[in-house]
Amino acid sequence: MNVNQSAPPVPPFGQSQPIYPGYHQSSYGGQPGSAVPPTPYGAYNGPVPGYQQTHPQGVSRAPPSSGAPPVSTAQAPCGQAAYGQFGQGDIQNGPSSTVQMQRLPGSQQFGSPLAPVVSQPAVLQPYGPPPTSAQVTAQLAGMQLSGAVAPAPPPSGLGYGPPTSLASASGSFPNSGPYGSYPQGQASPLSQAQGHPGVQPPLRSAPPLASSFTPPASGGPRMPSMTGPLPPGQGFGGPPVSQPNHVSSPPVQALPPGTQMTGPPVPPPPMHSPQQPGYQLQQNGSFGPAGGPQPSYGGPYPGAPNFGSQPGPPQPLPPKRLDPDAIPSPIQVIEDDRNNRGSEPFVTGVRGQVPPLVTTNFLVKDQGNASPRYIRCTSYNIPCTSDMAKQAQVPLAAVIKPLARLPPEEASPYVVDHGESGPLRCNRCKAYMCPFMQFVEGGRRFQCCFCSCVNDVPPQYFQHLDHTGKRVDAYDRPELSLGSYEFLATVDYCKNNKFPSPPAFIFMIDVSYNAIRTGLVRLLCEELKSLLDYLPREGGAEESAIRVGFVTYNKVLHFYNVKSSLAQPQMMVVSDVADMFVPLLDGFLVNVNESQAVITSLLDQIPEMFADTRETETVFAPVIQAGMEALKAAECAGKLFLFHTSLPVAEAPGRLKNRDDRKLINTDKEKTLFQPQTGAYQTLAKDCVAQGCCVDLFLFPNQYVDVATLSVVPQLTGGSVYKYACFQVENDQERFLSDLRRDIQKVVGFDAVMRVRTSTGIRAVDFFGAFYMSNTTDVELAGLDGDKTVTVEFKHDDRLNEESGAVLQCALLYTSCAGQRRLRIHNLALNCCTQLADLYRNCETDTLINYMAKFAYRGVLNSPVKTVRDTLITQCAQILACYRKNCASPSSAGQLILPECMKLLPVYLNCVLKSDVLQPGAEVTTDDRAYVRQLVTSMDVAETNVFFYPRLLPLTKSPIESTSEPPAVRASEERLSNGDIYLLENGLNLFLWVGASVQQGVVQSLFNVSSFTQITSGLGVLPVLDNPLSKKVRGLIASLRAQRMRYMKLIVVKQEDKLEMLFKHFLVEDKSLSGGASYVDFLCHMHKEIRQLLS
Ligand SMILES: [Zn+2]
Repeated sequence: MNVNQSAPPVPPFGQSQPIYPGYHQSSYGGQPGSAVPPTPYGAYNGPVPGYQQTHPQGVSRAPPSSGAPPVSTAQAPCGQAAYGQFGQGDIQNGPSSTVQMQRLPGSQQFGSPLAPVVSQPAVLQPYGPPPTSAQVTAQLAGMQLSGAVAPAPPPSGLGYGPPTSLASASGSFPNSGPYGSYPQGQASPLSQAQGHPGVQPPLRSAPPLASSFTPPASGGPRMPSMTGPLPPGQGFGGPPVSQPNHVSSPPVQALPPGTQMTGPPVPPPPMHSPQQPGYQLQQNGSFGPAGGPQPSYGGPYPGAPNFGSQPGPPQPLPPKRLDPDAIPSPIQVIEDDRNNRGSEPFVTGVRGQVPPLVTTNFLVKDQGNASPRYIRCTSYNIPCTSDMAKQAQVPLAAVIKPLARLPPEEASPYVVDHGESGPLRCNRCKAYMCPFMQFVEGGRRFQCCFCSCVNDVPPQYFQHLDHTGKRVDAYDRPELSLGSYEFLATVDYCKNNKFPSPPAFIFMIDVSYNAIRTGLVRLLCEELKSLLDYLPREGGAEESAIRVGFVTYNKVLHFYNVKSSLAQPQMMVVSDVADMFVPLLDGFLVNVNESQAVITSLLDQIPEMFADTRETETVFAPVIQAGMEALKAAECAGKLFLFHTSLPVAEAPGRLKNRDDRKLINTDKEKTLFQPQTGAYQTLAKDCVAQGCCVDLFLFPNQYVDVATLSVVPQLTGGSVYKYACFQVENDQERFLSDLRRDIQKVVGFDAVMRVRTSTGIRAVDFFGAFYMSNTTDVELAGLDGDKTVTVEFKHDDRLNEESGAVLQCALLYTSCAGQRRLRIHNLALNCCTQLADLYRNCETDTLINYMAKFAYRGVLNSPVKTVRDTLITQCAQILACYRKNCASPSSAGQLILPECMKLLPVYLNCVLKSDVLQPGAEVTTDDRAYVRQLVTSMDVAETNVFFYPRLLPLTKSPIESTSEPPAVRASEERLSNGDIYLLENGLNLFLWVGASVQQGVVQSLFNVSSFTQITSGLGVLPVLDNPLSKKVRGLIASLRAQRMRYMKLIVVKQEDKLEMLFKHFLVEDKSLSGGASYVDFLCHMHKEIRQLLS
């Protein structure tokens, strides 16, 4: 490996490289590559030991009972009596069709009647009484603003809220957790269909989108607040705020103590009238009209204390009300950014530019820095010294998505081929040639922008400089003019100095009783017959170079020989799972086209062969082991697609026991719920990574399967985990097949290594994502797809320089789908500052939240959840207090002043704090938490944004003919109008909420029934009707699904229906049933924390 070698001279590539059109293809070029050579760099202290960072977590919701898990071995069929119908008679699983196939020894062996165990939790339990609306609409009256009042301090215990209705709730949503599947049939006992209960929370139909808060982006007079310093005097209650530091975007919001916002709506530049003492937010001076009285928002703090550590004795101060319309609105911020920045392309030529928000659609023009689609930072202006950084507490991190997919309008990175000499690098730090390298001495040498080493330019690469010192061919070479590009790697970058073979996909299918019973095996085999024609391929290649292989298993493994010369597939059984080996080499991994007939035959036979199986036990680790050994034998990298249904209790390595115990929640042992129960899977994962074996796991559990343990290998190998709780073909087929198709077709880089280099002064110290690290600098990914991100945190190790700024270079070495070895390079230059105000003006809150969520989600592996929550709150308070102290102008302590670009930090942080991982509701299973934890670990900024703060779209507000997406409203119950219909999505879940007073015509148009009461609650599919509204809504649903990585299953929820409780879980500005604070309450709490820090 040539990490250390300097690049040999290469023929100049005078011309620009051809662009590979299309999505990922660019990444595949033509040559073989190599593995990342380990470079001799000092270790960074950072990374957490490989394993911890990566724990993924499970997916689905277990069946209802939240109580003790059912007997360990017995799998509770979701909702159905399990094996009842099963006769004992037929025990043979052997293939029946071909003579050549051997009988499964295993099956015979286990023919003994396994007593089908069945006692499972009944699935459908009646829904408990929904929480009374009173509960939800707690009144503000109780609220106290921190300024002066301490919110009723809840016991700092964990925030489990009012236990009240929870208990019943838990039992009630059997299959419907947010992460699980929500089988309709079982859903709710629709008794409550008859909606309009007399008592309805006050509904507002047209949410006042906090107009006053932020100035209209375009159109309309612009409020002073967003752009310039705050005009003094505009402020509202409180002393005028002017912020000298905010040169360009002074943001400020102040909560004048003692002011109350509940008065009647007031016109904009409002005022605070004496009678309305309360807190008013001041946003750069401009205030919006105070909304009308809002009876229902967030709950008052009263019993819900979940704020981490909070002392505050309740103080009986006069209740203050904070107008929700006066506090920073995510919707408004998103809308403003779209209006301000969505029309112009984002040109990357300027150092330290903050890109548009992830929620804004914009095009990117690469002019020397990587597109924000590849890298987003928490701040684009880094403090020059570590002291400043410590003072501000703003994490310095980059969220990197090396193989991000691009919109069709943007070209994939050019591929540069420097021939045998390979890419040109700095001799000392090994950074790759990039636009920031400085050519000197007439072009004969170049100075490295990372380590300052002066290197000779190889003769072949020599070029003259122009009068500005720039190479005259700079614009002809991607590596001298663009932020992102690829190099073809030489054999030096390959494992064992050998160009890699094309990768392979191995399908490993659980054929135990549960998998057969649900129809999964038949569905999957049928789908694979056609899906195999769509394996990823290189650019214009006619067929995919990827070979495929098949294994089925229960407590033994069955390998299949599908060589094209065979008339029928042959099965080989391996029952010694303790010492796994691959019984055949020739004929196991084959070309899909050549072996089409045999493969089709096999896929036809598998469901038949095991149709009568009674085997309920499965193994898991040996299956992965077998796939990895098969790849090793074939000397290639690849991916295993595992379709698995149950806790692997069969006697074998990696055997697991049911250890689910909800009683551990809120105890110091809660972390064990997130940790794997055995270290065996980490060891296995390490072997997989060494082989370039990535594992994608599809789970179909009926009950607890220990996602925390099963997802270890996928997580450490860069794979994905999907979970379909209580899978039933009728209800879940579409979702599963959609995910499967996308997963199999997506382009993947195999056997990858990523290294992030930085200019002197900062260095990468910590990493978050789905990967493995065997040292402190190299992120190893058996596989990396276009959805996965790696979040990297930086720390100072020296002083930075304002003039030179800071440079990051992410280099990803990987093998393409066709077996070509490549290097993808992303460069990004950032500004450095000596004034804190500059830092606070150039932060990106969405990215901060992405980092903080990942940090917290990793923290729960080692610390009590409460500690993790407290840490987040403290850090957030420190960030905001530092701003207040150093950047904001002096003002009353009662004012809450937030930096403009961080004004959403409190609301978003609160969403993270009350997420299922950090504050689970009673209906959230241990597997769900593990699943979500693992999912979030690899999410990009756009995904975490919508995941933590869901989008709520009113459907009948905008004109029917409007083709654009309706503007979203804030995620709060008070924004729901009972005369409207809304879609809510968070990237994983999709709800259609129907108000009880929706016009009959609308009901008819969408559901084809005559009244609200006739709508089926829990419905998963809208009827296909030929009218504009139906088409529009179905079109919108399709469009939302297309934007997300995973198929979102629809659930129709009727107002006042019991399922509504599940829906309300996503109204994140409200107080949650699990005790999570409302936005208003949290803001007050944060204000109090800040004041404490300042005093
Ligand atoms: Zn260097």
